[in-house]
Amino acid sequence: MRLSRSIRILATLGPASSTPAMIRALYEAGADAFRLNMSHGDHGQIAALYQAVRGVEDAAGRPIGILADLQGPKFRVGAFAEGRVVLHEGDLFRLDLDNAPGTQRRASLPHPEILAALTPGQRLLLDDGKIRLRVQDIGDGYAETVVMVGGALSDRKGVNVPEALLALPPLTDKDRRDLAFALDLGVDWIAQSFVQSAADVAAARDAVDGRAGLIAKIEKPQALRDIDAIADIADALMVARGDLGVEMPVEDVPGAQKKIIDAARRRGKLVVVATQMLDSMVKSPVPTRAEVSDVANAVFEGADAVMLSAESAAGEFPVEAVTVMDRVGAKVETDPHYRSYIDSIRPMPEATGADAITKAARQVAETLDAAAIVTYTTSGSTALRAARERPTAPILVLTPRIETARRLTIGWGLHGFIGEDANNFSDMVEKARRIAKQTGFARTGDFIVVTAGDPFGTPGRTNVLRIAEVREED
Ligand code: PGA
Ligand code: MN
Repeated sequence: MRLSRSIRILATLGPASSTPAMIRALYEAGADAFRLNMSHGDHGQIAALYQAVRGVEDAAGRPIGILADLQGPKFRVGAFAEGRVVLHEGDLFRLDLDNAPGTQRRASLPHPEILAALTPGQRLLLDDGKIRLRVQDIGDGYAETVVMVGGALSDRKGVNVPEALLALPPLTDKDRRDLAFALDLGVDWIAQSFVQSAADVAAARDAVDGRAGLIAKIEKPQALRDIDAIADIADALMVARGDLGVEMPVEDVPGAQKKIIDAARRRGKLVVVATQMLDSMVKSPVPTRAEVSDVANAVFEGADAVMLSAESAAGEFPVEAVTVMDRVGAKVETDPHYRSYIDSIRPMPEATGADAITKAARQVAETLDAAAIVTYTTSGSTALRAARERPTAPILVLTPRIETARRLTIGWGLHGFIGEDANNFSDMVEKARRIAKQTGFARTGDFIVVTAGDPFGTPGRTNVLRIAEVREED
């Protein structure tokens, strides 16, 4: 199945999936890459997960991607004298900078930057939006609010402030420490949380300094408004539906998902659809029909990858969740509507040699019913252009850099293999035939379509397209 499925599966690791045996089982069930969540676990635990994935990678002999997800600014109320209070609609409730335990009338909100940015009329969302407050009045060191939607509020619940533009650094101090640590470990991707603007992403990009790919998590309405500029800078986008669905009305999220996918796809950037995809599988071995539809829909929409969060990190059925994603992805991709839909949303090529060759390669592969498109790439950029075409044939990526192969594991339809760059034209064809056959993608008599850059070994110049037939001796 892994050979035929183009959508990629990203599984978050956590307490339910921290042993090498479980990570191996998730990989075998179809996980292509793993997410380490920097919000949970100390550096020792993160390093152990990282090493466990690399161990699975060694044993499997295939590149596996690893993503470190930075926590970003996370706001919480303080603790309560009694552990919790119950707020009722219409109650007045004050949030202030005082560390004293909270009561029925007030709670600590130890974040001056929120109080500085709030204005009357704005909303504060507590505990994933379950409780809603509206700001009535701002004073020195406090905000007086009215409870719009009440409920139980307990110690250290999260706070979202969707309407205020907060004066925050693009990366918190914790993010900077976690980033340095993750880059030193050797992760392939960094995800930046709660991006507010393209400037935030530019700052993260400088900090990452090319040592990993950068994913901008779109989980704020402000980021959605700046999506084109953000997509220009990031290497990938994540449709972070968890917080997005708190910060904006839930009924706006499906449209936002389409907008984010479109912004990424037009540029040939990668896009991951995340959160609650199979949420009921945290507790149940089978998904709901609606969840299956949701995963299928992301596949139809042309996403590069779908992600599991609590399902694989903390659920009771991590392997089953990956298996469901694997089966849904493989099935949708053979549905007749899938092809016509994917073809209808294909972005136009840009006026570059690489796009001209890549588009031609897709068409030649379709005409000949070729077994594979084989691309040579150092940085991975040619492979990303090939994935952007969403061809029917699988894309075999030959790269001398393991980092490139790992990074491409979340790219639609890409299968990375490590190998020396070709020295010359006949060597290029030779190597491509052999890898296509030895990996089981092509059989004797099949056509493959090869793209490369001539002169060989010069990155970023795809200008050659070659048709080859796989031979008995390959
Ligand atoms: P999180 O991000 O899991 O780190 O919160 C994803 C989301 O908000 O959907
Ligand atoms: Mn989030």
